[in-house]
Amino acid sequence: MLMTTKEKSRPTFRIKPDFRKEEVQRAAEAITRLDQKFPDAGCALKHDNPFQMLVAAILLTQSDERSVNLVTSRLFETYPTPDVMMTANRSDIETIIRSTGFYRQKAKYLIETSRILVEKFDGQVPDNLLEITQLPGVARKVGNLIMGELYGSTEGIQVDTQIHRVVERLGLSNGKITSKVEHDLMRTIPQEDWPKAPYLFGAVGNHFCYAKRPACHACPLKDICPSASSE
Ligand code: SF4
Repeated sequence: MLMTTKEKSRPTFRIKPDFRKEEVQRAAEAITRLDQKFPDAGCALKHDNPFQMLVAAILLTQSDERSVNLVTSRLFETYPTPDVMMTANRSDIETIIRSTGFYRQKAKYLIETSRILVEKFDGQVPDNLLEITQLPGVARKVGNLIMGELYGSTEGIQVDTQIHRVVERLGLSNGKITSKVEHDLMRTIPQEDWPKAPYLFGAVGNHFCYAKRPACHACPLKDICPSASSE
């Protein structure tokens, strides 16, 4: 398959053979198993174009995909493009997105981000982490989510509280902050798996690896997980 210029210029991540050998093997085995167990794991945010994905991802902060999907159809219908959203009345947006939480700040982000898209990026969503994380409301986690979903490739790995918990229990990182966990994962997981790995670990968290009383007896990773309980 031919690579685009962008793909050619993207640095390819390679794991040194002996680096964190056990963790690398455990992560590879976990991803293989989880891929089979959760073949449909992926982003559940409803969107039809990059702008909608960006808006939905900004709304996801401190919320969940279901809550975001409940408000975005009305939001996208009312404000279909950055040109329209940048001129929106902030309180009108607040009313629509209120149930996602932090709605005042998010409405501000949506209007300001739309303005920057129009003025700096010709109305297009940037296709690299550096530029996209300069938009209001787009921190690194959100940026990784958008890059993985829109471009099938990412320059990092999105890590949230749930993914952090699963990865720590699997012994793939002992980082206390998400940036350290992301760094450990980037040195453990092959780059081609970076976009899907968070969804697979997230699925383990949703179905087995609960914060309290994880269901290790039913978890597909119980025989390779150093934290597996026999209960
Ligand atoms: S075996 Fe238990 S602790 Fe390990 S990932 Fe599965 S549910 Fe979590």
